[in-house]
Amino acid sequence: MAPTPVVKDRAPLHSGALYSLQLGSTRPAGWLRRQLEIQANGLSGHLDETWPDVGPNSGWLGGTGESWERGPYYLDGLVPLAWLLDDARLKAKAQRYVEWILTHQAPDGMIGPASNDDWWPRIVALKALTQYHEFTADPRVIPLMDRYFLYQLAQLPSRPLRDWGKFRWQDELLSVIWLYNRTGSPYLLDLARILHQQGYDWMAQYANFRFKEKITAEFIKLNEGGGLKDLALATHGVNNGQGIKTGPVWSLVSGSETDREAASKMIAELDRYDGLPNGMFSCDEHLSGRDPSQGSELCTVVEYMFSLERALAITGDPAFGDRLEKLAFNALPGTLTDDMWAHQYNQEPNQVECSLHHKPWVSDGPESNLFGLEPNFGCCTANFNQGWPKFAASLFLLSGGPDTDAHDGLVAAAYAPCEVRTNIRGTAVRISEETDYPFRGTVKLTIDPSSPISFPLQLRIPAWAAGAGITVNGRPEPQPSAGSFARVEHTWKSGDRVEINLPMQPRVSRWFNDSVAVERGPLVFSYSIGEDWVKLRDRGMTADWQVYPTTPWNYGVSVDPSNPASSLRVNESEIGAVPFSRQNTSVELHVKARKIPAWRAEDGAADPLPQSPIASVEREEEITLIPYAAAKLRITAFPILKA
Ligand SMILES: [Zn+2]
Repeated sequence: MAPTPVVKDRAPLHSGALYSLQLGSTRPAGWLRRQLEIQANGLSGHLDETWPDVGPNSGWLGGTGESWERGPYYLDGLVPLAWLLDDARLKAKAQRYVEWILTHQAPDGMIGPASNDDWWPRIVALKALTQYHEFTADPRVIPLMDRYFLYQLAQLPSRPLRDWGKFRWQDELLSVIWLYNRTGSPYLLDLARILHQQGYDWMAQYANFRFKEKITAEFIKLNEGGGLKDLALATHGVNNGQGIKTGPVWSLVSGSETDREAASKMIAELDRYDGLPNGMFSCDEHLSGRDPSQGSELCTVVEYMFSLERALAITGDPAFGDRLEKLAFNALPGTLTDDMWAHQYNQEPNQVECSLHHKPWVSDGPESNLFGLEPNFGCCTANFNQGWPKFAASLFLLSGGPDTDAHDGLVAAAYAPCEVRTNIRGTAVRISEETDYPFRGTVKLTIDPSSPISFPLQLRIPAWAAGAGITVNGRPEPQPSAGSFARVEHTWKSGDRVEINLPMQPRVSRWFNDSVAVERGPLVFSYSIGEDWVKLRDRGMTADWQVYPTTPWNYGVSVDPSNPASSLRVNESEIGAVPFSRQNTSVELHVKARKIPAWRAEDGAADPLPQSPIASVEREEEITLIPYAAAKLRITAFPILKA
């Protein structure tokens, strides 16, 4: 595949700190490719065959079926999955939707099914089309978007953004900026401003955050009818996950430093009041506090990831890379089965049973943590598909000035095995990344320019990686700082090797009621409760499952807070064909523990964690912790035992 050019931010837009590489430049390899293949062989590659909502009668294929967000949601993940894997079968599936959209634009410029005129599903369709264009350069995409945006600019004063579109306007802004960077049509900046003016003010919500308690159905007037009110939409998990990107994306238009820094501020508030040890904030499906028995919706996981990918590129803040990896390697695979044929709506860090129950959800139904085709509601079924492919496409970014390519360089923003092919100042550059990260701490890059070329290579050193080291062709570079991008300047020639060593000693973090979670690198570890999978019903090509515990789970752990690593014994083994499977865990940790008899479950959910430290006179045992994602029934936040 030929190297592709990078499109930078066009004046008068304020340039991002970094730029996304054209889609197709970064391709998954190693375990990450296997993970995408599992996805392609699972529900993502067959969803249209078994789920009518995105099947042949979809409104987005001209049918009379579902005509709102589900078709575009599916396409938003199917396009990058199909093209990253270069999978002809999946490309053909995606092309059917794309063809219908491209060939059914109304004379006035409107796109999508005529049966509804909601702006929101079109925001998602635009995200899918911009990706499709980057992969294919189909010449029909830009004229279609241009006509649609002109139409929308004329319509918005009399038919403004409402409900979901109002709270998710920043996702359309991405596509408006994408087109502006390619066409330079000034009206697009007017459209950007009217979207900002009509859209919800996420920056104001987080400048003075007032949703500090678990949201209740009464608080958001859920039972008063008439659909979700603004208060409900402002506290809605998926909306907040999408909203995190708002400040950085809008800062490209506004030029405001405060806007650019707003994503960090939002994440800090969500962590403080709703933070969970899997890197998520609770949302089942409104913000629901820090108890690790609360859930997080799968749509929020993948939307939070996408927001982090955008925020990382625009701000160049490596902390977004740390969080992105935490979600990608824990919360995302933790809520899908190994074969990616079934998923949950809500996952819990302390998840002791997946069965029909109401506790502890704020507003979600009794199926919310079942594994299945469309537990609780089908949004996640259509939307989860974007998680892995967009992550795989976001591993490398480009650095350099907006107006010249003289200072261009490459940035390893997140780590996983991949291959990058791009252009630096007209020279083709290929980088192969070989690594078993996140299971191991060594990352090897082989640089292969078509002729020797000097450019900076920036390498993200996670905040947890104190003592990290970098070598170039075996010679050590100066010690990099944790929580930064290390910059390596070099005249690269074919076969140059860069090795990054990220220390992987286990550590602990503190959570609800002073509980403790164990982490190692970007992985979170959980006690794996014995699982009995009971089929509830067949669902076409897949099924809905309940999962019942077969072993006790109510453990407190003995951890020396001054030297946690001394309390944890590490065992590494081979990485299996399914990277995050319980059948073949590539890392295990062992820790001393005692049962806490008073800590029980009610209606399928663990009671709130007892306050730590806590005494126990039960027998001391050694328990095994495995990667969070591998344990579908799990304890992740533990009470600490009194010494
Ligand atoms: Zn969802």
